[in-house]
Amino acid sequence: MSLLKVENLGKSFGGVKAVDGINFELKAGELLALIGPNGAGKSTTFNMVNGQLKADRGSITLAGTELVGLQPRDIWRLGVGRTFQIAATFSSLTVVENVQMALLSQDKKLFSLWSAAAKHRRSDALDLLDMVGMASQADRPCSVLAYGDVKRVELAIAMANAPKLLLMDEPTAGMAPKERNELMALTKKLVTERGVAVLFTEHSMDVVFAYADRMVVLARGRLIAEGKPDVIRDHPKVQEVYFGS
Ligand code: ADP
Ligand code: MG
Repeated sequence: MSLLKVENLGKSFGGVKAVDGINFELKAGELLALIGPNGAGKSTTFNMVNGQLKADRGSITLAGTELVGLQPRDIWRLGVGRTFQIAATFSSLTVVENVQMALLSQDKKLFSLWSAAAKHRRSDALDLLDMVGMASQADRPCSVLAYGDVKRVELAIAMANAPKLLLMDEPTAGMAPKERNELMALTKKLVTERGVAVLFTEHSMDVVFAYADRMVVLARGRLIAEGKPDVIRDHPKVQEVYFGS
């Protein structure tokens, strides 16, 4: 059975059909890339899945539960996680404190209980940091980390809620090729070892073809192709959208 099922999904802004009746599915343990030129509707699709935008039409189900109409918080509780950039206010906290914060928000504990509660969560946070190769930097402030390492911490934070599905909108934006590959290799490891499914967008075709299990290609709000990287690479419609007339 599919973990995520998107059916006839649509969203318009004024006269612009940002997403125009798309269908796709995602299985547990799959790394699915959503690609397409600027304005294709990738972010709009993401934001409908996480509940920040409400679909005009269609359905999005997670393991059979309808997500359309639910609040972002409820969708998050059902197991749809997403990576967030670490906000400036949190960059003065250490690496491990940022992950502890994420674990606490899952507990719905009050911020005033932070120091007492955090003690109990440090080892859980260190486990998550170990998973992303950042345990050795746990006690450094996030503000001093290399950019690629910040991205690893963001991934640990997203994993704190043990999501079934992780959404990553342009996770490697602004990264050098080496860092990109490291982050995607790590993401692939999470998919394999933890069984989490990942839906991600990505500009670099090298990265997409190297790491995605399957790809969905959008153009002007429509799904124009879908399949394994080998199929997509040679697909005439994809060639046209990316390189063509
Ligand atoms: P992508 O992420 O693939 O670049 P988007 O989903 O951001 O594409 O945008 C799809 C289309 O919807 C574009 O034409 C964009 O201008 C339009 N759009 C997206 N968000 C809004 C919005 N909040 N208000 C108006 N138009 C929007
Ligand atoms: Mg976008």
